[in-house]
Amino acid sequence: MTVPLLDLYAQYRPLREELLAAVTRVCDSQRFIGGSEIDGFEREVATHLQVPHALGVSSGTDALVMALMALEIGPGDEVVTSTYSFFATAGAIARVGATPVFVDIDSDTFNIDAAAAVAAITPRTRAIIPVHLFGQPADLAPLIEATSKAEIAVIEDAAQAIGAAYQGRPVGGWGAIGCFSFFPSKNLGAFGDAGLVTSTDDAIARRLRLLRNHGMEPKYYHHLVGGNFRLDALQAAVLRVKLPHLTAWTAARQHNAAHYRALFAEAGLIDMVRLPTEAPDRTHIYNQFVIRATDRDRLQAHLTAGGIGTEIYYPVPFHQQECFVPLGYRPGAFPLAEAAAASSLALPIYPELTHAQQAAVVDAIRTFYRR
Ligand SMILES: *Cc1c(COP(=O)(O)O)cnc(C)c1O
Repeated sequence: MTVPLLDLYAQYRPLREELLAAVTRVCDSQRFIGGSEIDGFEREVATHLQVPHALGVSSGTDALVMALMALEIGPGDEVVTSTYSFFATAGAIARVGATPVFVDIDSDTFNIDAAAAVAAITPRTRAIIPVHLFGQPADLAPLIEATSKAEIAVIEDAAQAIGAAYQGRPVGGWGAIGCFSFFPSKNLGAFGDAGLVTSTDDAIARRLRLLRNHGMEPKYYHHLVGGNFRLDALQAAVLRVKLPHLTAWTAARQHNAAHYRALFAEAGLIDMVRLPTEAPDRTHIYNQFVIRATDRDRLQAHLTAGGIGTEIYYPVPFHQQECFVPLGYRPGAFPLAEAAAASSLALPIYPELTHAQQAAVVDAIRTFYRR
């Protein structure tokens, strides 16, 4: 049995007619930029995320860049974030000319160590970007408490965490700005690149809306220098078909995570692998199910040979990336993130995964450790 890390076709198959009808509707309208598909999607996703403002944008990466631009963060400013995330989080900070300040992770959740983030605040700090990594919310309360009186914004990188909740409230509505991605492998995936910014603040939302379209309002009158960060109507139409299924897909991912726990316990593998932990007061939506494994690289090779897809998120923390050498971090600076990079392995967790496939994954892992 082969088990891919992700099977997008399994999600597409039952929705195919409806998706093609939505795409056809946009083609027949010949309205590709702006219009009712965008407006409709933004209304629907704002309701889903319980936020007053949700703006469709071109990607999760652009959402982060726009968030920093909206807050006028740039050269001379510092932005604190985790050293362990997808590159876009750190790349966005560097691209606006600000200085990324990295901190280590909490070893249980892979998320930013909130105490370390607060300790990294200096007079130059303008923002903290917690990443809700793998679908589990970062510990937001200490960050919000430490920044609320200072002029420091919390920007949530919720690219992997649409629908995840912290203390019962969805992520993306906690900080000044929430950033989401609809990259095809995310829990809500478009047919290409797409993203979203959210805010509870009217003035920030107005700036984000301007920035998305060259700072222009009305046509050819430019209040600020923005960019082309627009979501297109084809992607919005696809996302509108998929959004009503998101809650059920998330429940299926959570069910699969619970089933893995049962299978790993039965197999007696708890000493060889560390399963993901769920921190109190948080809903984990399992964009990824990431284990820590002894002898990880050889385990991955064994699984690959057996037809089981896995991925290493992420092999190199930011402070060890070549492009950030000028920032002057030394190897060993963030030992928990470095240990995670050396041992983490994502297993298939997508909603349509079957119990038989999960059993095959755990069996293959058992075989590896029993050699
Ligand atoms: C996917 C991702 C992004 C970037 O989103 P794109 O839509 O691919 O640009 C940013 N941050 C994190 C944590 C991500 O996983």
